[in-house]
Amino acid sequence: MIVGARVGDTLPLEVGGFLLQVWNKILDLILPPVCPACKTHHQEAHRFCGPCWQTFSFIGEPACSCCGFPFEYSVAEQSLCAGCLAVKPHFNWVQSAVRYDGVARDAILRLKHGQHTHVAPAMAALMLPGLLRRQVETTRLIVVPVPLHTVRLRQRRYNQSHLLAKPIARRLDVPCKPAVLVRHRNTESQGSFGRKQRFRNVAGAFTVPSERQTDISGHSILLVDDVYTTGATLSACAKALVKAGAVEVGAVTFARAIGVRQSGTGT
Ligand SMILES: [Zn+2]
Ligand SMILES: [Zn+2]
Repeated sequence: MIVGARVGDTLPLEVGGFLLQVWNKILDLILPPVCPACKTHHQEAHRFCGPCWQTFSFIGEPACSCCGFPFEYSVAEQSLCAGCLAVKPHFNWVQSAVRYDGVARDAILRLKHGQHTHVAPAMAALMLPGLLRRQVETTRLIVVPVPLHTVRLRQRRYNQSHLLAKPIARRLDVPCKPAVLVRHRNTESQGSFGRKQRFRNVAGAFTVPSERQTDISGHSILLVDDVYTTGATLSACAKALVKAGAVEVGAVTFARAIGVRQSGTGT
């Protein structure tokens, strides 16, 4: 092992997800902080450096009151975008931190496909300010990462959404419960699908196991995912959670694809 290298850079992929995260945490303790995107040294651990931060296209108001799609011009409160008017998603609201491009896109691809689990805390740190501004009621809130199918989880050895959800739940001081939602169909690759196809493809792909319904009933849920493409996955998750008795389902994602059809990045 080269001193200063990360597990995801050098060790074979057979290393388990847990060991991968433990090793990266050990490196965090013994090495000076580096930007998880460009690897240059800087002051704060688990944060993007200034030059990388400046490349992000942050998403704010005005936006669709349901899916958070950013509008170019101010609109009346509670306005919906054309997509939500055409097919109303099952979630109540979505907050995405940045547009899916440049450094944000690289960070997601490295987190999902490059075993770079140490990128997750920096991404979660960018997801929090919007959530805190929204003043989400935390009294009966549960954080739930969008689950991977077990086949995908075995291949990747960790769920990238769970890595994002943990620091968010910690900061909000609410429980993170990844086991309350199960993906029983492997539907992740939807690269060439349009919006309607994606909604059809993931419909019914998620369930709340019967023994977990009491965890959900009467609670508000904050879903966490890495990227929002059409909202089909989050909507299917929300439908299952509402069926199990959730009173409200909001969602937060690190990035949002806008104006481009993505290739297998998310749904
Ligand atoms: Zn950087
Ligand atoms: Zn919308």
